[in-house]
Amino acid sequence: MTFKELNISEPILKALSNKKYENPTPIQEKAIPTALKGGDLLGIAQTGTGKTAAFAIPIIQQLEEAPFSVRRREIKALILTPTRELAIQIGESFWDYSQYTSLRQAVIFGGVNQKPQVDKLRRGVDILVATPGRLLDLINQKHISLDHIRHFVLDEADRMLDMGFIHDIKRLLPMLPKQKQTLFFSATMPSEISKLSRSILQNPVTIRI
Ligand code: AMP
Repeated sequence: MTFKELNISEPILKALSNKKYENPTPIQEKAIPTALKGGDLLGIAQTGTGKTAAFAIPIIQQLEEAPFSVRRREIKALILTPTRELAIQIGESFWDYSQYTSLRQAVIFGGVNQKPQVDKLRRGVDILVATPGRLLDLINQKHISLDHIRHFVLDEADRMLDMGFIHDIKRLLPMLPKQKQTLFFSATMPSEISKLSRSILQNPVTIRI
C-alpha cells in the first residue's frame, strides 16, 4: 500500500516524501480512509505506531478541500493532548504535513507565559493543538472560541485520565459544536475511557493496533 493509493492529495504527498515516509503504517492504512470520509474513529494504539499522521493527514486534507466560505481563519480543528511535549510534537507534525498548504496552526500549553500564544491566536489559526488546562484558561479569557470546530481529536485519552484531566475534558466537551468529526485515541481502554468514548463518538469505526 502507498500513500497515493490512500487518495492523499498532492501537497501532502510532497510533504510525506520530504519526510522520506515510503509507506503508511498499519494504523495509517486503516484510519486514513475512514477519517477522510468524515466519520468518527476509535483508535486503540500506542505512541510510536504513527498515529499522529493517522489523524493529522485526513484533517489537513479535509480542511484544504473545504469550500472557501468555511475557510476563514477560525479554529476548525482542535487536538487535545495531555502534555506539553506531546503538544509540541503534534504541532511539528501538522506543520510538516501541511507545509504546502495555506493552513495555519498554533500550539498552546501551560507552564509558560500565555502572551506569545495569545498573539499567535490573534493572527488567526485553522488548527489548534492544546493541553486541557491552558485551553480552558484561554477560553475563559475569550481568546479562543470553539464554535467553528469541525474536527476534534482526543489524543492519549487514558493518559488524560491518569493525569487528572478528565474533569477538564468533561467541561470542554459541551463547548464543542454537535456536528463534527471526532477521532479518539487511547493506548488502553479502562472502563471510564470506554464510557467516555461511547458518550462522544457517533457510529465510530474501531481500529486496534
Ligand atoms: P507517532 O506514533 O505518531 O508518535 O509516530 C512515531 C514516529 O514514526 C514519528 O517519529 C513519525 O515521524 C514516524 N512515522 C509516522 N508515520 C510514518 C511512516 N508512514 N513512515 C515512516 N515513519 C513514520
